[in-house]
Amino acid sequence: MTTPDQIHNTAVIGAGFAGLSAAAYLAKGGCKVDVFEKNADIGGRARQLTTPGGYTFDMGPSWYWMPDVFENFFADFGYKAADFYELKLLDPEYVMIFGKDETIEIPASMSELFTLFEGIEKGSSEALKQFLKEAAYKYRIGINKLVYKPGLSLREFADVELVKGMFRLQVFTSLSSHIRKYFKDEKLRALMEFPALFLGAMAEDTPALYSLMNYAGLKLGTWYPVGGFGAVVDAMKKIAEQLGVKFYTEEPVNGFRIKNAKIKNVYSDYQSKAFDGVIAAADYHHVDQHLLSPEYRNYGSRYWKKRVMAPSALIFYLGAKKKIKKLRHHNLFFDEDLSTHAREIYKDPQWPTKPLFYVCCTSKTDDQVAPAGHENIFILMPLAVGLNDDEDTREKYFDIIMDRLENYCGEGIRGYLDYKRSYCVSDFRQDYNSFGGNAYGLANTLRQTAILKPSLANKKIKNLFYAGHLTVPGPGVPPAIISGKVAANQLLKYLGRL
Ligand SMILES: Cc1cc2nc3c(=O)[nH]c(=O)nc-3n(C[C@H](O)[C@H](O)[C@H](O)COP(=O)(O)OP(=O)(O)OC[C@H]3O[C@@H](n4cnc5c(N)ncnc54)[C@H](O)[C@@H]3O)c2cc1C
Repeated sequence: MTTPDQIHNTAVIGAGFAGLSAAAYLAKGGCKVDVFEKNADIGGRARQLTTPGGYTFDMGPSWYWMPDVFENFFADFGYKAADFYELKLLDPEYVMIFGKDETIEIPASMSELFTLFEGIEKGSSEALKQFLKEAAYKYRIGINKLVYKPGLSLREFADVELVKGMFRLQVFTSLSSHIRKYFKDEKLRALMEFPALFLGAMAEDTPALYSLMNYAGLKLGTWYPVGGFGAVVDAMKKIAEQLGVKFYTEEPVNGFRIKNAKIKNVYSDYQSKAFDGVIAAADYHHVDQHLLSPEYRNYGSRYWKKRVMAPSALIFYLGAKKKIKKLRHHNLFFDEDLSTHAREIYKDPQWPTKPLFYVCCTSKTDDQVAPAGHENIFILMPLAVGLNDDEDTREKYFDIIMDRLENYCGEGIRGYLDYKRSYCVSDFRQDYNSFGGNAYGLANTLRQTAILKPSLANKKIKNLFYAGHLTVPGPGVPPAIISGKVAANQLLKYLGRL
């Protein structure tokens, strides 16, 4: 039993969104919190890269979806996102590029979106209304009832509304077949299937429950936090520090002292410190397989080999000494066959023959991220995990991508670059101890949803819980923030503080 003045020392491993969130909730729950981060910067995959020439790149996330999840976090601490950063609604939200002169710009306004659909396929505006009505239900149930559950037992899901709604939630139908019932046009189908890629899997392997992502994207809007995702990281760090959280950067955790099924000490490269509870918000596989000795692991190596990982990525951070007229903030290149690229990511892992890619140009919205008259360009090509990514291969793909990008933009870009850096599989491994060099964690397939994900609780150590994109609820910034809260609540319960 905890007495009101009892102090509990807790440790959080990793200062990505999950770790930041967990640290803030633990501190709010009255714990002393130390966060150990391997890298020099806070933010994990959402760190920023600032160059001497005046560019600021978000190294990872660029799509700010589900603003309500961010607001819920800030509200738990008495704030609003607007207390820390300005949010801009993007309009168009994004452009889908099917060919040089074949594009679809997704408007922020719903009435314009319905007109756009009707112009592409007769009757599809009504179909979209019905589709979004269903997706709104899934979003409401998903965000209010499902994602905040720790997923430790089926009993958690025995809620009347959940049980009644199970059929409507379409957990056992694929997103792809669900979409195909509503839309015939292949471009509209691609547009509706694209959010599944955020979940790290193909639409045919993703439960139709996740049409809630279509609702998130099309109805709740695509936003941009001015200053980039780094502004969100700074805001969460500020809240944590106000509550007394201490950050130890460049201090990787390398093991534990465990006694009577409890972690007693956390070992870092520089110290051994006693703790009453630990949240591991570094990549789950790394903690399970490399920080714990075999008798304390939740899973064996065979289990991990069988997991379907979300893709890795080949990324280029580019600074260009001119403005590029045709680029929008978010540009999705769907000018090659999606199924071939997907097969080369998931089924037959190899460097893609004809890759799809995504270009983000934050300088279209934010003049802080590039010098005046310049563009800040982030290019991402999804890639199978575990591939060899030597310099020659990266360069080969740089040229393939740039040929298509320059052709689409109708102007040269390569000759105007004053900054270029690539980032790929081995960098993810090296920087984040990422399993297979994954970029987004574990794919949200049916067999890897809710209680079927790696467990939030260590089954052999009572005071160790996991957070982050390999456990519940899944990949992406909003789920990482939620997962930090859920894990913190489990530890607070264990410590008798909740
Ligand atoms: C290129 C890219 C694009 C993305 N785009 C989007 C997007 O547009 N929108 C969106 O919502 N999501 C996006 N995501 C996904 C999102 O960024 C992640 O799901 C989320 O940031 C994961 O947060 P996390 O806290 O679980 O993990 P991480 O951010 O990886 O944090 C884990 C931290 O643990 C640290 N660590 C590892 N080992 C140790 C150790 N031994 N000791 C101490 N610390 C350790 C790591 O250095 C890291 O800082 C993207 C991800 C990537 C990579």
